[in-house]
Amino acid sequence: MMSLLMLFVGLGITFIVAHFLMPGIYYIMAVRWLRSSNEVGHKVGLGIDPPFVSVIVPTYNEAGVIIQKLNNIYSQDYPKDRLEVLIVDSGSTDGTVELVHEWIKGHEDVNVRVIEEGIRMGKAHALNTALKYARGDIIVVTDADSLWLPDSLRNAIAWLMSNGVGAVSCSKIPRTNRDIETEYRSYYGLLRLAESRRFSSAIFHGELAAFKRELLEKIGGFPKDVGADDSHTAGFVSMMGYRAIIPEDVKCIEYVPSRGYWMWRVRRAQHLIQHFSRFLKYMLIDNRNSPREYRQIMLYEAYLHLINPWLFIIGLALLVVSALHGAVIPIALLLIGLALLSVRFFRTWVITQVILVVAAIRNLWNKELVWRKIEK
Ligand code: GDP
Ligand code: MN
Repeated sequence: MMSLLMLFVGLGITFIVAHFLMPGIYYIMAVRWLRSSNEVGHKVGLGIDPPFVSVIVPTYNEAGVIIQKLNNIYSQDYPKDRLEVLIVDSGSTDGTVELVHEWIKGHEDVNVRVIEEGIRMGKAHALNTALKYARGDIIVVTDADSLWLPDSLRNAIAWLMSNGVGAVSCSKIPRTNRDIETEYRSYYGLLRLAESRRFSSAIFHGELAAFKRELLEKIGGFPKDVGADDSHTAGFVSMMGYRAIIPEDVKCIEYVPSRGYWMWRVRRAQHLIQHFSRFLKYMLIDNRNSPREYRQIMLYEAYLHLINPWLFIIGLALLVVSALHGAVIPIALLLIGLALLSVRFFRTWVITQVILVVAAIRNLWNKELVWRKIEK
């Protein structure tokens, strides 16, 4: 009995230490990538003949935000005659499409078109429909419930002008007063910038995801069987040897839901888990000859999203069980852990691990490929 208890304590501590070690190592590596003089690819600039850009906005019941979104695209620092906007709507019932038609009447100097899918078959399906109509050399996807800074599009396209860069996304500025969300974003945002310097960001953002059209066509459009269509597409671009980067000067604003926040986080985590599960397989089995730096990034990130959270939960469970059996060290450790919850970073970290575990379990029966709209 005594030795079993010791085993539980030993294993519990080992799991917890391992859980914090790996992200610690990755974080140090990321900071070094950021500090290294490595440029994020090479920003060529737009030149005198900017490429023709198709901006695709998928909408499902976005009446509350669509006008602001159109105005935001309209006010971008990018030549209007080199731009078309495709609103692809999947059977909205709140008048989204009517609002767009109204807006178009007052803005005839920019080409905005509406594509109606009629029934809802998910975001990726809608993006593929829009792709058939898009004429741009560059395809930019942007969620309706997000905003760009005036130079976001211009900077993103300028980066894409470089031969080695296949895709560009943005750093997120969350619109929220939840400190959990801002803390999570500042940590994640640093990793995105660092990975971009190294080779490619492991994660892309639907608020602004720009792709070279020819690469999208080679991939066969947006993946319909994985929720994180943006990250997944960027991953395919990277496996072909092109960089998919988040540069420091491309930023976007995202609205964060207040009600339904936790379900929203779980659904997004589910999508990321689907994305990384696939890439774990690609990196280990199917596509072992992907660029070396990219493989390293994806193996670390897959580990951090798929395996590492379980070490925490299992370690914690072992410590709780041994504490309940009167072991002193676990009691002390758990009390320290409880106290640490008052530290914002630690609290955010722990919550993120729980969300990832819940999401992994939920993926077993519901992949959330077509999801319930959550009001922002
Ligand atoms: P979140 O940002 O992860 O919360 O996802 P959202 O619910 O905001 O969806 C991202 C974007 O995809 C938004 O602009 C939605 O309106 C749009 N969207 C979601 N599902 C569908 C769909 O089935 N069809 C179309 N056309 N757009 C969709
Ligand atoms: Mn959204």
